[in-house]
Amino acid sequence: MSTKDFVEKDYYKVLGVPKDATDAEVKKAYRKLAREYHPDANKGDAKAEERFKEISEANDVLGDPKKRKEYDEARALFGSGGFRAGPGGAGGNFNFDLGDLFGGAPGGGQTAGAGGFGGGGGGGLGDVFGGLFNRGGAGTRVQPRRGQDIESEVTLSFTEAVDGATVPLRMSSQAPCKACSGTGDKNGTPRVCPTCVGTGQVSRGSGGGFSLTDPCVDCKGRGLIAQDPCDVCKGSGRAKSARTMQVRIPAGVSDGQRIRLRGKGSPGERGGPAGDLYVVVHVDAHPVFGRKGDNLTVTVPVTFPEAALGGEVKVPTLGGPPVTLKLPAGTPNGRTMRARGKGAVRKDGTRGDLLVTVEVSVPTDLGADAQDALEAYRKATAGEDPRAELFQAAKGA
Ligand SMILES: [Zn+2]
Ligand SMILES: [Zn+2]
Repeated sequence: MSTKDFVEKDYYKVLGVPKDATDAEVKKAYRKLAREYHPDANKGDAKAEERFKEISEANDVLGDPKKRKEYDEARALFGSGGFRAGPGGAGGNFNFDLGDLFGGAPGGGQTAGAGGFGGGGGGGLGDVFGGLFNRGGAGTRVQPRRGQDIESEVTLSFTEAVDGATVPLRMSSQAPCKACSGTGDKNGTPRVCPTCVGTGQVSRGSGGGFSLTDPCVDCKGRGLIAQDPCDVCKGSGRAKSARTMQVRIPAGVSDGQRIRLRGKGSPGERGGPAGDLYVVVHVDAHPVFGRKGDNLTVTVPVTFPEAALGGEVKVPTLGGPPVTLKLPAGTPNGRTMRARGKGAVRKDGTRGDLLVTVEVSVPTDLGADAQDALEAYRKATAGEDPRAELFQAAKGA
């Protein structure tokens, strides 16, 4: 099941329950509908069968508290459609839907430890602090702070890089402390830091007509100080959260490429946006195929008669059936030919080519017949000097 499914399918609607329905209500709604649309009770009714499948699917997710939580999170994150990975950093430019990237996360249930990644945490904090400072007011504004970017690495096999792959990515990041809702205060009522008056920053004059700002030391840049520090996070408001995400790496990535997943880094503070996640991709070499942009490369041995007289040569492709290449008579060693559409997948879904380089192989143990034939060939071509031109050119220079 993909995240796309999650975003597009409204399982609550399918079961006819409100979003805040209890587990018991979900179960009850499912049982009622399942009885009604069960294939045994609707023999030959394709529509009922379809509906029954939908109902089962919805129950698979909503009936499992863990999956339901992930479903709700996925919808909250992706439902708006506003998330789109922008141009990448140093590595390259990639634009693709996050929906594609996070295939399968909910089904596998890979969340380890406390979740709270991205989205929800930031919004919640914004509410908490928004309320706080609207009351305390007096012109003090606490700026929202963007979450940190996270960098991670992944190693793909050659084939995975060509075809695209969904890979688990384990990351630790900072999430709001659950015990104090990220406020750092036992009672959820931190006060504004007097040193920086809530900005989290102090300026230091540089004398050059401009000033530099440093994070406030007293509140560690948070703008808030716990009155009664939370025992769990010691007043920091942050908790370490480890999580394994299923990340969809698009087809056609190359070794060393850096992919940016917007909004998948650490959550922001005070309603600030989440940071980004950068994934540096490493690609293992393939024993046979190489890569040149969208094209794949392969070197294919041919016999001297095949090269000299021409012939049909079978060439392996990556993950597909072999293709047959027609060698014209007199194909020189090292010539590269093109098998169209047998290369790597491009961003638009089309494929590059397979560049086939022929390599004339020289036999090392000849049978008697072959030896005789070659001796006859030597005699027949005795008048030809393949190095005549070489020596001519050497003299000229
Ligand atoms: Zn401060
Ligand atoms: Zn805490």
